[in-house]
Amino acid sequence: MAIGPIQKQPASSPDPCSIAAQNLIGLLTPLVPDETGSSSTPLQTSSPREVLYAVQTLVSTLRPESPVFATFHDGRVHDPLGGGSYAFQKDVVEPVLFALMNDEILSNGEKEPLLSMKVTPPKIYSPCDAQLPTRPIVLHAGAQPNNSPHAGTIIVFCYAFSLARAIRDRMRATVTGTELQPPAVSVEITFIDTAPVPGHETSIEGIQYQKSYRDVPEALNTHMADYGQIIQLLSTWSDIPFETTFQSEFFSQPVMPSLLRYIIAHYETLGHQLSPKYGKIALRAACPVLGCGLAEKHGRLNLYSEETNTNSETESPKNSDSMIAFHCPRHGRHTISTSDPGEIACLEANAPARNLIRSMS
Ligand SMILES: [Zn+2]
Repeated sequence: MAIGPIQKQPASSPDPCSIAAQNLIGLLTPLVPDETGSSSTPLQTSSPREVLYAVQTLVSTLRPESPVFATFHDGRVHDPLGGGSYAFQKDVVEPVLFALMNDEILSNGEKEPLLSMKVTPPKIYSPCDAQLPTRPIVLHAGAQPNNSPHAGTIIVFCYAFSLARAIRDRMRATVTGTELQPPAVSVEITFIDTAPVPGHETSIEGIQYQKSYRDVPEALNTHMADYGQIIQLLSTWSDIPFETTFQSEFFSQPVMPSLLRYIIAHYETLGHQLSPKYGKIALRAACPVLGCGLAEKHGRLNLYSEETNTNSETESPKNSDSMIAFHCPRHGRHTISTSDPGEIACLEANAPARNLIRSMS
């Protein structure tokens, strides 16, 4: 990006660095007090914008072989409310508890949901009439164990345990002096052990294949102790219990067969939405042949079949047995049935497909 007027130079002119330096000196000189101690003000000589442009121009010429570029910050941090932050403008814990209570009320179908925290805070949180969630509260966080935990992962883990502790402490304070017992609060860390292992990826006839961490134990175990140490430390600090889970447990949820049947019934539409490049939904499974373990990365060669009839085009099939056939470049096809929980646990999904499934589960 051009950052100031560029002077065209004849062949014999000084180099750009010298020109930029002279230009900057020319702008700065009037600001330096003379022998009498007086100096011109910036506004009398050159605008601050001209000085900043001159600095940027000079910086970009200092190292022509690999230029660096200067920018400036006005020192102001803009933190506007947006997205979910409106709900958490004044507090984080109370809106979470409020939402959990409403969710519980609606799922029980017993009565109308609570309308507003602002209208009913004494009723919700007063010790004499404490209304709190009754179901256990689990905060979820996840990580791909393909490196030692980096700053982002550590921050997320810290936030999960910190928020869990704040929720527990708020509920304990709410029921102080009563016989009520708040529900348990814990953290669940899910490891995405289906991420590709570097060095175990290959491309055959334009199709990408990978081995996932869970199929290369020595790779998976490389950094797990680091994660364990951090999670244990945070659990001790917060006095919040935790569990760790893996992708096989994610795909073992009771709702998974029906979710997969829905996805298979709509795999063409979902594929184009989630993966426009290939138009395929990236479900995969490692080849079951001992010692192989290759999985087709993007699900481009998957075959889907349904052995059921649906009542309408928009209704997901029920009580059916859908099949996914995966492709191994060495051993051919292998299949997974949506009616077999053991086979479903072998499924893998890339991040967009996994997020879809998580949001539906
Ligand atoms: Zn194979």
